[in-house]
Amino acid sequence: MEGGYVNEGGQLKTKNGQKYIFNNGPPSGVYVSRACLIISAFIMVAALISSVLITYFLTSQGLPITEPPPSAQAQSKDHPEHQTDSRANATPLVSAKFDIPDWLKTKKEATTSSPELPPVIVQNEDKLTAPPVGDIPVIEETLDTSIKSTDRLLQLYEGWRPLHYRIVIEPNVESSASNGSLVIEIARDPKVTSWEPIVLDVYNVSISNVRVIRSPAESNATEEVELDFDSDYGDNNATFVIKLAKELSTESNLRLMLSLDFVSQVTDTLQGIYKTSYVNPGNKQLQWVISTQFSPIDARRAFPCFDRPDMKANFTLSIIRDIKTSMALSNMPISHSSSHRPGYIRDDFMTTPKMPTYLLAFIVSNMVDSRFALLDGDIVPRVEIWTRPTFVDMTHYAYKMVRQFLPYYEEYFGIKNKLPKIDLVSVPDFGFGAMENWGLITFRDSALLVPEDQELASSSEHMQYVAQIIAHELAHNWFGNLVTPKWWDDLWLKEGFACYMSYKALNQVHPEFQIMDTFTVLEFKESMQHDAANTSHAISFDVKTSNDVRRIFDPISYSKGTILLRMLNSIVGDEAFRSATQDLLQSFSYENMNRNDLWAFLTRHGHEKGTLSKDLNVKQIMDSWIAQPGYPVVHVERAGADLVLRQERYLLPARNPLDHSRWFIPITYETDELHKGDNIPTHWMTQDLDQLVIKDVFTKKINNDNVVYLNLNRESYYRVNYDMASWLALKKKFSTLPRITRAQLLDDALHLSQAEYLPYDIPLTFLMELFTSVDDELLWSAAKPGLNYLIYNLKREPAYETFRAFMKFIVRPAFDHYGLNEPDNESHLQLKHRALVANFACKFNYDRCTQVAQMKFREWMRDAKKNPIKPNLKSVIYCTALAEGSYQEWYFAYKQYKRTNSASEKEEILTSLGCTTKPWLLSKYLNLTINSTSGILKQDGALAFRAVASNAIGYEMAFDFLQSNIKEIADYYGDGFSTISEMIKSLTIYMNKDYHKQQLQALAANCRKLGLKAVEMAIGMAMEQVNDNIYWRTHSYDSLKGFLEGIVSEFQINIF
Ligand SMILES: [Zn+2]
Repeated sequence: MEGGYVNEGGQLKTKNGQKYIFNNGPPSGVYVSRACLIISAFIMVAALISSVLITYFLTSQGLPITEPPPSAQAQSKDHPEHQTDSRANATPLVSAKFDIPDWLKTKKEATTSSPELPPVIVQNEDKLTAPPVGDIPVIEETLDTSIKSTDRLLQLYEGWRPLHYRIVIEPNVESSASNGSLVIEIARDPKVTSWEPIVLDVYNVSISNVRVIRSPAESNATEEVELDFDSDYGDNNATFVIKLAKELSTESNLRLMLSLDFVSQVTDTLQGIYKTSYVNPGNKQLQWVISTQFSPIDARRAFPCFDRPDMKANFTLSIIRDIKTSMALSNMPISHSSSHRPGYIRDDFMTTPKMPTYLLAFIVSNMVDSRFALLDGDIVPRVEIWTRPTFVDMTHYAYKMVRQFLPYYEEYFGIKNKLPKIDLVSVPDFGFGAMENWGLITFRDSALLVPEDQELASSSEHMQYVAQIIAHELAHNWFGNLVTPKWWDDLWLKEGFACYMSYKALNQVHPEFQIMDTFTVLEFKESMQHDAANTSHAISFDVKTSNDVRRIFDPISYSKGTILLRMLNSIVGDEAFRSATQDLLQSFSYENMNRNDLWAFLTRHGHEKGTLSKDLNVKQIMDSWIAQPGYPVVHVERAGADLVLRQERYLLPARNPLDHSRWFIPITYETDELHKGDNIPTHWMTQDLDQLVIKDVFTKKINNDNVVYLNLNRESYYRVNYDMASWLALKKKFSTLPRITRAQLLDDALHLSQAEYLPYDIPLTFLMELFTSVDDELLWSAAKPGLNYLIYNLKREPAYETFRAFMKFIVRPAFDHYGLNEPDNESHLQLKHRALVANFACKFNYDRCTQVAQMKFREWMRDAKKNPIKPNLKSVIYCTALAEGSYQEWYFAYKQYKRTNSASEKEEILTSLGCTTKPWLLSKYLNLTINSTSGILKQDGALAFRAVASNAIGYEMAFDFLQSNIKEIADYYGDGFSTISEMIKSLTIYMNKDYHKQQLQALAANCRKLGLKAVEMAIGMAMEQVNDNIYWRTHSYDSLKGFLEGIVSEFQINIF
């Protein structure tokens, strides 16, 4: 028998009837959990894509410009579907060019100066006869001696703008290279008066046969003229520079055709044009897939280009592929397919609308479609989903979601989807979660595929994740693709909008998910956790290098971006927000914009609708949120009938005490006496005032029993700290408060204590509300981040015993209510909630949970083909069974990992493999992450490592493994980039001793010695985390321990 509570009317009391409230105490730290895996994997791995270790030197093979094949472009518009023209004559590659305008076709011998290629590249201009590219030597530099910093300066060259790229490309898996030819129509930028060279971005691309032809249509000349020029590679071979004669500088309307041949690399590091593979289960043969990932700055790895988001152009792409591959896809439908030369097919794609280079994409593979386009052939846009043949049955859910989200967006934005088709493809081994290439959205398997058969069926959480990722990528069709931020410093605009719109769309399609409520927990957790660090950055900062671009793809851009847009929505109201968005999209279609454009539209529409006071403008409000990192905590004090508010930056105490940042904060509040009914701000805290006094909030001067709470519906990005009288009043009337406010209070209280703004008895008291709020799903979700932080910081300390007993006591009624049996027809929220409750119950070793979990797992082991575990409970049951079980459970799980087809099931098992308490298994598991035959994909390496590192027994082994094998890991994952960074960041959960700092420094020194500069940031963040942990251990541990012991004794909680 545990505990001596009496539960009366929702109030928790001690045995002698005393209401429970503590006083006194302190703390700090940072929460790291697996739960954010979903969005955060998507976000963080995005950063991973942008750098490389291996430097290849390529030899080029010349491919001259010649006549185009007949009429490809002319046929295109009428025949959007793939047509393989078997009658077409096989044409040698040399004549298989793009469609060149007539005036260029007539050009005879070129009289150009050819560029000199960078050193090491051996150009072979004699070999004009065909292809394949297998003769390109690849020299890999060895790690120790030659790893260079992968950081590159992203210089912006002005003076010329691309209008139209015509590209013919033949990517080749065997040679790991792409041969191609390119014509870019370019125009002189009339805004630039100085005479500038033409500068193309390149990365490991060799260029030959350059010609520059003046377009007669844009000059007074009667015929095209081939121009003389000088050309060469720029610094570090990062650019290709063409200098034209100075005499042309007087012509401001100059238009040119720049044609060239190139050879680029087909990487295996998931960036640029890359190759990946899968095994066909039928014949066990390896199938290659060529895919692309150009965002953010890797189009330059594929072909020479103006690789920046404001250099929009049309693209007409042709792909030459081996006849053994069954399909090629790109942004637009195929206009024409023909035999190219024996054994090769050429696919010509329709011309894209104006768009940036980072949105161009193509795929060549033997993957198959799901035949949705056949079923719904007359609906525009045509939607098709492509995957491996064995996964076709897992695409139905995604298709259904696309068809539901599209009409919503078209209606909300007031603009029809622009492209005639949308292909969604699950790419084996994919660095991002998904990528919004216009018309060709690519996904990792688990972000698109939802198994539906009984055994593999997905959890509610996974289905929500898939729906949300699809909604996010589709929203980019408007925000990002149609209208694009000018530069990467406004990345948050496109990502914030895509995130925010995905919530709106999901809310429309699945109102029962109550996703807008989830927003207030999930996005705030994600953003506030990162933004509380000293190492955080302003949501918009000066992006100058490739590392800056990599850095900006993080939760600050995504989660903080979406939170700020929601805040703006609440400031100007729904109507003004929507009309401003529509207006903006109309005004900047096919163009670029920046945040000031958004501010202007919101201000105008807010003023017009009367929701924004005429003496306010959005820029003045938003500057403080955009230009500085972090977020405020607003302190609230009662002064008679008034409230006095002060603000300061929320920072953990180990951090910068001299930070005096202030924000322009919208204030909303309610009391027992005042319920305004909307969330439009009534007051503003400005940066110049030390405090804001709100008069006559209460009708009486003595009002300690009255509640007041701020930041209604958590519309704004700040935490609230109350005076003690207010906390007590809120606790007393907790059950009567709005749902989101309750969740917000618990989350704020836990994090305010973590940062020493509040003694720990307050959050512990609010945590006890879980005891009675058995079915308040949002409150439980809100508790998770703060609780995980405590688990990590206490797990290896004596006080964990008391903490575990306390939590087991609190979680018990909910688990007894829900258990581990899922009845049929439960709602989405109930399914998720049961899983969360069980997760805590098993984590705190409630034996009813752990025993049933083991029993269910053993049932599965008895018949591996029949998994009796319900999808929502897999995570908790797998992990518990492996933690409590022996090596048999572990090997069984690993076998199932290799056996299963389902990507989401694979992820569940990968995480649970790290739950074992057997050191040799953890060690074996770590070694599997760098073994290419283990079945663990590179995209999942960091996930597997994190599973071990977040195990209280495994983290030291994980540290040793990384320290001892850093070179091999860097080699295996390529680039030393985000996989290693992710690994380092996940190491610090349990590190809270001084000697841990020295260990980390030794690791940093090792990385430095190997030239892994890309991980410096991760090491800096890890060091900050360790400092916080040490500070918390020194300052808050004892007082928390004291409170916990007090509660356990007061409620007579059995600590076993
Ligand atoms: Zn996005």
